[in-house]
Amino acid sequence: MAENPAKILVIEDEAQVRDSYLDMFSFFGYEVEAVSNGRQGLSLINKKDYDIVVTDLNMPEIDGIEVLQYVKKKKPFIEVIVITGFATLENAIKAMKVGAFDYVTKPVDIDHVRIVLAKCIQQIKSQRENEELRNLNMQLKHLNEMKDKFITITNHELRTPITVLKGYLELIDYFLENSRSPDVNEALEVASETMAELVSIVEQMHDMSSFDYGKKKFELMDIDIQQLLVTIYKEMKIFYEKRNIDLSLKLDGPPVLVRCDAKRIKRSIRELIQNALKFTPQNGSVIITYSLNESLKSLFIKVRDTGIGIPVDKQNLIFEPFYEVQDAINHMSSKTEFMGGGIGLGLTLAKEVFESHDGALLLESEVQKGSTFIAVIPYIRELKK
Ligand code: ADP
Repeated sequence: MAENPAKILVIEDEAQVRDSYLDMFSFFGYEVEAVSNGRQGLSLINKKDYDIVVTDLNMPEIDGIEVLQYVKKKKPFIEVIVITGFATLENAIKAMKVGAFDYVTKPVDIDHVRIVLAKCIQQIKSQRENEELRNLNMQLKHLNEMKDKFITITNHELRTPITVLKGYLELIDYFLENSRSPDVNEALEVASETMAELVSIVEQMHDMSSFDYGKKKFELMDIDIQQLLVTIYKEMKIFYEKRNIDLSLKLDGPPVLVRCDAKRIKRSIRELIQNALKFTPQNGSVIITYSLNESLKSLFIKVRDTGIGIPVDKQNLIFEPFYEVQDAINHMSSKTEFMGGGIGLGLTLAKEVFESHDGALLLESEVQKGSTFIAVIPYIRELKK
């Protein structure tokens, strides 16, 4: 109806009055049809779609109240305006109780009727918009439920076979310990790396679904994050060397004690360093800086790369689940190659993890220049070396 004129059906037994309504309503720009009694009216209402029925109250056989009751029962989305003489004002009030949108008294005042019709159309429009929003909302809810279900099922279904595969891979590695050729060695290395990537994807999906369901359980312990950072640095260094990207670690402050879920914090910091590797082309550099802010009693871990950078309008989106700036079609399977694989959950989870520790994950980035991700984590106290 937003673009088309409203469709009105007039039911009025007096020919002259009926014609005057026809002229008046078409003059207002509506699409009008008119019939002379309730029976014809109900038959048309059954066959066609109208937005509004304008009916006289006093008619022989089927009167306006019966028309109204029929419409409200069979096609409640059609609004009904009743027209009545002063003598039957009581009936008009009754009509309002049964669900009429409004009533107009005879002789009809052109300005009044114009206003009543305009208000009625406004109401129909907002009702339809609300209905559309409700439907969209339901569709979104449904899609969201499907997404959650998909993640939960995939997660459950993948976990067991992956655990079994990982176990067998370790067994093969063990059985072949003293008798393997360089080729087998290399094959096993690739298989183990791929398995580690698969495990990390399944763990991310598992975390995502448990965070979504508000079931995040952190295992808190007191650790020295500086030491943790050195471990991650050493683990990642080899992948950086393979890609010919310089990775350096600057420790600008003493070690501190932090109460945190060490496994999740490690995974989150690693994610930042892995992303820096993924999105930095060969011969670039990545600097990890550790520093303290004593007044905030927080430590800062900055991961600065000389990579592709992130456009300003995407800088919030990358923290949304499954969002990736680059086209997913270009996905590579390896998580350490330039623009390599991932499912767009790493930063969502990392942000969630830092924030759940009363910290934060901040970003500064410029396209073609590079990005700096800054993890902020509160600490308990400094540790004496
Ligand atoms: P994924 O595991 O798919 O990389 P993330 O949540 O870790 O998912 O990152 C989401 C997206 O943010 C990435 O796909 C990439 O487009 C962008 N991004 C993350 N880190 C960087 C970075 N250091 N430089 C450029 N873009 C990045």
